[in-house]
Amino acid sequence: MKIIRNAIRCKHCHNEVSSEDKNDFRICKCGKVGVDGGYDYLRRIGSLDDYEELSEWK
Ligand SMILES: [Zn+2]
Repeated sequence: MKIIRNAIRCKHCHNEVSSEDKNDFRICKCGKVGVDGGYDYLRRIGSLDDYEELSEWK
């Protein structure tokens, strides 16, 4: 299995953030959640209740 999309949508500001590289740390507009890890691993910042998972594996 490979990660083809590393992304989440914040439930508070509805901002969609995606990480495209190992050190590509992105945070949503309101700052509650963030993503990192690109296509190597999924790193999540914030609580599970605060975002909707949008990642895809192949
Ligand atoms: Zn947000």
